[in-house]
Amino acid sequence: MNQRGNSVVVIGGGLVGCWSAWYLLQQGFRVTIVERDCVGSGASSGNCGFVCPSHVLPLAGPGVFWSTLKQLLTPGGAVSIAARFDPGLWGWLWRFARHCNAHCQAKAALGRQQLLVSSMRLYREFICQQKVDPQWQEQGLLLVFRSPAAFDRYRSTVEILQQEYSLPVTAYPGRDVQQLEPSLRAGLGGGWFFPEDTHLRPELLLSQLRDQFEAFGGKIEQGTGVTGIEIQQGRAVAVRTGQQARDADLIVLAAGAETGLFARSLGCSLPVQPGKGYSFTVSAPSDMPRRPMIFEETHVAVTPFVDAFRVGSTMRFAGYDRRIEQHRLRMLRRIAEQHLRIRLPEKLSGAWSGWRPMVYDGLPCIGRSPVSNVIVAAGNGMIGLSTAPATGRLVAELAAEVSPHIDPRPYALSRFS
Ligand SMILES: Cc1cc2nc3c(=O)[nH]c(=O)nc-3n(C[C@H](O)[C@H](O)[C@H](O)COP(=O)(O)OP(=O)(O)OC[C@H]3O[C@@H](n4cnc5c(N)ncnc54)[C@H](O)[C@@H]3O)c2cc1C
Repeated sequence: MNQRGNSVVVIGGGLVGCWSAWYLLQQGFRVTIVERDCVGSGASSGNCGFVCPSHVLPLAGPGVFWSTLKQLLTPGGAVSIAARFDPGLWGWLWRFARHCNAHCQAKAALGRQQLLVSSMRLYREFICQQKVDPQWQEQGLLLVFRSPAAFDRYRSTVEILQQEYSLPVTAYPGRDVQQLEPSLRAGLGGGWFFPEDTHLRPELLLSQLRDQFEAFGGKIEQGTGVTGIEIQQGRAVAVRTGQQARDADLIVLAAGAETGLFARSLGCSLPVQPGKGYSFTVSAPSDMPRRPMIFEETHVAVTPFVDAFRVGSTMRFAGYDRRIEQHRLRMLRRIAEQHLRIRLPEKLSGAWSGWRPMVYDGLPCIGRSPVSNVIVAAGNGMIGLSTAPATGRLVAELAAEVSPHIDPRPYALSRFS
């Protein structure tokens, strides 16, 4: 049944909600985004801005469980976990451990690659057709290693990426990496360069996407938290916002890391955990790097925007904790200064934190829930900016019941049953 012209409420105004809303509008639906705070207030604005087809491999891979455990036990490390009673998180970690093998890694990588490749094409299409510029820069992505041994060890991953996923990668061993990127300090182990990755300014993208969505007739209600979904005889009929109810023919649940809180009412499992990350953004220093980089041993990322410089990272599993801990920002600055010939301001401006919506198998949840007129779109984890356009387009295709542009099966919610 073609449902065009019907009303859709999208819960959540992050990247996934906004891209879903945009493509739903293109399919002829009447669309309203209902956002508790303001568009981009979740994980979508202060992220590192990488649109990175190189990130095809999920976090869970062979040997990753032990290396993650080691990082968890390192005080001040990039990955950390709050010591608290949280059976949901423990179950999630146990399942993550069970996915740390080559078979699960390869299965997830195929699903991720579909979204990454399609999103890259959709970004270019959107920028060209809508005549917007979210500071899109085709500068590639450089993974930098302090130790030569770690640089060499990464070669086996590079071989998988080249052979299995046809990704172009160039090696810059030892001091070659400094020649490629003169802002780096001397004495580093080397770098691997992914020329096809790009980056953009996420806040700018969101405001342009939002403007286009409204110009084409979409509606946005900010400051409106959804407290529940009203279900009658197995179908959703409205979203509840405090004392009020907003009728809808179809609901798209794109509440990022908080999506799992709706699982019980939908009668399914949605194992999305908040993986808290930090960033700070300062005005462009004179010695700003030319290209985005990840300092791989610590997972700290740096992004040169046109007029600003962002440093971001850390993965903290601490539940829905919004505090910004200053010592984590200081750690980001210290690691950036250890790798770069750069002096960052003593007082850091633009401090930000957001919850990555993490699923243990490294794949998002995109598909109809057991309440069939509720489509879930969440769990894009560490690659939400890089995969949101294709996620949104798939959501709209599922809603309109037209043939999907990518195979939707890897993301189906039934994999958790
Ligand atoms: C430090 C950091 C760096 C990152 N860097 C990159 C990167 O370089 N490249 C990349 O691809 N990805 C990156 N990511 C990941 C990316 O930011 C996320 O995957 C993406 O933003 C998730 O988008 P989302 O729309 O699913 O969730 P969110 O952006 O969190 O949006 C969910 C929205 O739902 C709203 N909401 C929640 N509950 C309700 C409710 N009950 N009612 C109404 N509204 C509700 C929230 O307010 C929020 O605005 C990074 C993440 C972090 C933390």
